[in-house]
Amino acid sequence: MKRNRRVKILATLGPSSSDGATIKKLWQAGADVFRINMSHSSHEVLNNLVNTIRGVEKEVGRPIGILADLQGPKLRVGTFENDEKVMLENGATFTLDNDETPGNVNRVYLPHPEILGSLQEGHRLLLDDGKITLRVTNASPERCETRVEVGGKLSNRKGVSVPDTEIPVGALTDKDRKDLVAALDAKVDWIALSFVQRPEDLVEVRNVTQGRVGVLAKIEKPQAIDRLPEIIELSDAIMVARGDLGVEMPLEKVPGLQKRMIRACRKAGKPVVVATQMLESMITAPVPTRAEVSDVATAVFEGADAVMLSAESAAGDYPVEAVSTMDKIAQEVETDTHYRDIVHAQRTEPESTGADAITAAAHQVAETLDLAAIVCYTASGGTALRASRERPKAPIIAFSPELSIVRRLTLGWGLHCVASNDAANEEEIVDRACRLVAKEGFATPGQRIIVSAGVPFGTPGSTNMLRIAFVGG
Ligand code: PGA
Ligand code: MN
Repeated sequence: MKRNRRVKILATLGPSSSDGATIKKLWQAGADVFRINMSHSSHEVLNNLVNTIRGVEKEVGRPIGILADLQGPKLRVGTFENDEKVMLENGATFTLDNDETPGNVNRVYLPHPEILGSLQEGHRLLLDDGKITLRVTNASPERCETRVEVGGKLSNRKGVSVPDTEIPVGALTDKDRKDLVAALDAKVDWIALSFVQRPEDLVEVRNVTQGRVGVLAKIEKPQAIDRLPEIIELSDAIMVARGDLGVEMPLEKVPGLQKRMIRACRKAGKPVVVATQMLESMITAPVPTRAEVSDVATAVFEGADAVMLSAESAAGDYPVEAVSTMDKIAQEVETDTHYRDIVHAQRTEPESTGADAITAAAHQVAETLDLAAIVCYTASGGTALRASRERPKAPIIAFSPELSIVRRLTLGWGLHCVASNDAANEEEIVDRACRLVAKEGFATPGQRIIVSAGVPFGTPGSTNMLRIAFVGG
């Protein structure tokens, strides 16, 4: 079973998509990786979803990626007297403080002492997805006085963004630490870290994960944009998390930042996911808006590794339709006459490593000889991602003896991932590659493929072998 597209689809699971039958339909419609949002999932829900996905994986006979998305330090205000809404008028004074009693039109509890201690005069606070703007006029560790710049109604536990303030906490809260352990126990393939601010946030997580999962950094804070190269360096993948990014930054900056992040990740050879509101109107309608179709197409034309669905697949009325709509858009874009030129224009030169020399050469040979497929034998997954970085026209078949690596690679652009037993020698690898491409429908007898591997086998980072081979009858 092969997909007729290179870009991957990541679908968030939730109340609309928690049972095996729906998850199978989502996969059949085109979802390659499933996201479990830990903001809304207990450990029991996490374990049930992982078991269900692994059941579907067995049924369909293809590896499926699972990403557990940690909530991160999402800030919220406390509650209000009688659980009422208060109206903050433009120009009024409003205080956030360390007093736990219910708030009113003049003040509210901010249950994050570290934030109170970090706010400074002139900083902004954006409440309720940016609908209300407050400007700090007087700050102390106990209370922070603000002027209401853009007023509105505020109620219990609404979200708070502090775009001007670097918060002195890591990206992992106590809840995240527990969720992370549960996700590792459940053997997910990727962990997503929310509200990453600093490279050190990733170091902290990597100390726990120890290479057992891929670590994806969600870029949704201006502070992370400032240090993007270092963050990409320490991450295994990046998400352009446009939801919160569009609150913390002026909305009109998001498209340019999306381009910047995709290009930086493609250069680094790290998978990049474009997320949030891609087909938002499909939460309640069976067809998307023209603008949404164009948004998905833009990400595909840029050469992003994956496009993501959030509420569309998790809580909407048309989860399967949302996935198949993305699939159709992606297939159409990838066969557009301009697609190859646009994607290729952002290709960067190979770095001076064996893996890059080999994968760039494989790409070149496949193009020159119009080969049916590029087959990468990869122990750690590293070589497959370098081959993906080339964004070749030919499909890339990544095969590895490590099932966890194969599952993790499902996020990467153009990678058709297959788990396969370890091979004893070069002949066996080439032979297996030829049989594999025929079986998986990538080549017919008589067509040629190119195979790369590291000899001797089982040594990560040793990619040094390239062979052109005929697919037999
Ligand atoms: P979220 O992250 O859906 O977990 O908030 C994505 C985003 O902010 O865009
Ligand atoms: Mn977010």
